[in-house]
Amino acid sequence: MEHVILVRYGEIALKGLNRRYFIDLLVKNIKNTLRRFESAKVKKIQGRIIVSINEAELSEAMQRVQKVFGIISISPAIVIESKMDVIEEQAIKMMAEVSDAKTFKVTAKRGDKRFPIQSPEIGRRLGGVILDAFEDLKVDLFEPDFNLWVEVREQTYMYHQFISCNGGLPVGCSGKGALLLSGGIDSPIAGYQMAKRGVELTCVYFHSFPYTSDRAKQKVVDLAKIMSQYCGKIQLYVVPFTEIQTKIVELCPPRQTTIIMRRYMMRIAEMIAEKEGAKSLITGESLGQVASQTMEGLGATNAVANIPVFRPLIGFDKTEIVEIAQRIGTFETSILPYEDCCTIFVPKHPETKPKVSAIEKSEESIQEIMVDMMTTAVSDAEIIIL
Ligand code: ATP
Ligand code: MG
Repeated sequence: MEHVILVRYGEIALKGLNRRYFIDLLVKNIKNTLRRFESAKVKKIQGRIIVSINEAELSEAMQRVQKVFGIISISPAIVIESKMDVIEEQAIKMMAEVSDAKTFKVTAKRGDKRFPIQSPEIGRRLGGVILDAFEDLKVDLFEPDFNLWVEVREQTYMYHQFISCNGGLPVGCSGKGALLLSGGIDSPIAGYQMAKRGVELTCVYFHSFPYTSDRAKQKVVDLAKIMSQYCGKIQLYVVPFTEIQTKIVELCPPRQTTIIMRRYMMRIAEMIAEKEGAKSLITGESLGQVASQTMEGLGATNAVANIPVFRPLIGFDKTEIVEIAQRIGTFETSILPYEDCCTIFVPKHPETKPKVSAIEKSEESIQEIMVDMMTTAVSDAEIIIL
């Protein structure tokens, strides 16, 4: 008898994609999330992925596997030989471990046609054996207290728990994106949503030391670490931004500094995207949330980008974003009170309807020095792998 995690992936998601590539990538991502577990082995069988693992490590491994995108649900299962007497014995054993069930049902699936008994008959036989062994139990096909699942394949998998997971596509199948990751609530969720659709993340954090402290940076590192449980390996660029920001504040009209600063963030993120082979930028912006997130504001930020800018939270309310942040575990870290660079340099009356032409005009005075400053910022960036 062996303990495994039975992994189910979505069939619909497979249609447009190369099925085998998708499954191999999912296997790779599962292996990656379990790399600390020496006993873990991951293999493909028809329509499923099977993770075998020591019983002692099972629940911790399930916690990790559950978070991998591309998985619909998992079940902790027992693997036994595909022989009717062995299956019957195991069914009784599993039933005996349940103390509070009054009713039960057996759902049997024969995946291996070489097995001589058909699915409904396997179910009936096991039901009979259980009824004989436990006098008080009754069968309830519609709302059983306990549903025993039996999948007969080359080996037989028996389980009674379905744990639903996050779905999505395996990270990596949709290419790479550069996420502008601040220490706030929104951008980690923006990254999460894109990773859910298969995007591998390179994160870019603009650090304005000493205006933003080392603790503010650590907070971003911690957020990236939490995200990596879902998103797999994350590369985090910590870009020194103080000089650029100071120059903008010094030489541009106060009302426009936020937008101009955001435009330089996009430009630098795009330079990093190019270096890393990322084909899009991702931000945590949501329409109307703050002064710079009006249509005009987003338009002015967008205008500097030459690759698509994805804003997966554009139509989300803050409460909806917070809900996801709480569910995936980034919220508590995001609300730690360390300053982010934007709040320090925020003007009293920011422009809410900037005109791109006016912004471009203001940028003329700094354009030339910025070329070098941006190159330096990228080459001086610290790269942290999570
Ligand atoms: P968040 O909660 O993600 O910080 P926000 O609501 O504070 O977002 P803004 O400060 O306007 O909104 O930032 C909008 C987006 O710009 C962020 O979601 C993020 O993608 C990016 N961003 C802002 N500040 C930084 C920073 N210091 N480093 C990297 N990206 C940033
Ligand atoms: Mg913020």
